[in-house]
Amino acid sequence: MRKNIIAGNWKMNKTASQASEFLSSVASRMDSKDEVVIFPPYLSVAAAVAALKGTKVKVGVQNMHFEDAGAFTGEVSADMVLESGCEYVLIGHSERRKYFAETDETVNLKVKKALAKGLIPMVCVGEDLEEREKDLTFDVIARQLRRGLEDVAPASVVIAYEPVWAIGTGKTATDEQAQEVCAFIRKSLSEMGFDAAEISILYGGSVKGSNITSLMSMPDIDGALVGGAALTEDFINIINY
Ligand code: PEP
Repeated sequence: MRKNIIAGNWKMNKTASQASEFLSSVASRMDSKDEVVIFPPYLSVAAAVAALKGTKVKVGVQNMHFEDAGAFTGEVSADMVLESGCEYVLIGHSERRKYFAETDETVNLKVKKALAKGLIPMVCVGEDLEEREKDLTFDVIARQLRRGLEDVAPASVVIAYEPVWAIGTGKTATDEQAQEVCAFIRKSLSEMGFDAAEISILYGGSVKGSNITSLMSMPDIDGALVGGAALTEDFINIINY
């Protein structure tokens, strides 16, 4: 069901005690009409869930394995994620693709597992600078969507468009650039058989309190996936855009 979502990806930041301290100070100010989701590192999930108890803020993990159990040292399963109190899972973040060999194929396996277990997958897609400069943006996004969502029944997925060149660089895509790709994503999802008008599509890449309002005014942008600014008080400004 399409709704506005503001999500914070903490990446490898904030220990459990830092998560408790931060969320205890901001939780009461995170009361938004939009869905708010925090993605802490695994070991800070329990602290985040506890600190957000009684609020509407949801918690998710930044990755999970596609198998149910077994000899996969260092990994966590969907059941573990669910039991920890999470409702969302981030899948295919560009840092997972770049540093941890995540592929469109593993994205696909993880999306299917998340949906089968009742978790909401937030699937990240996006082109890097070289691909944008070679005019390959739409080809890259189309491939990531087609392969990442192959044989996925039209269901509850969230897509985050994150141009790699805008992540952590301070270089935000213009509102028009972000809108153009989010509209392309919606059209592609529709061609793939999804009820695209009902899917939330977020933009991510150097989102701050100062640029969220104009991004959110774009017709195909239903929210933001926020990295650096989600670790600071500015996240409150973003939520309250
Ligand atoms: C991200 O990593 O998902 C992200 C968008 O980071 P930042 O907001 O720091 O660019």
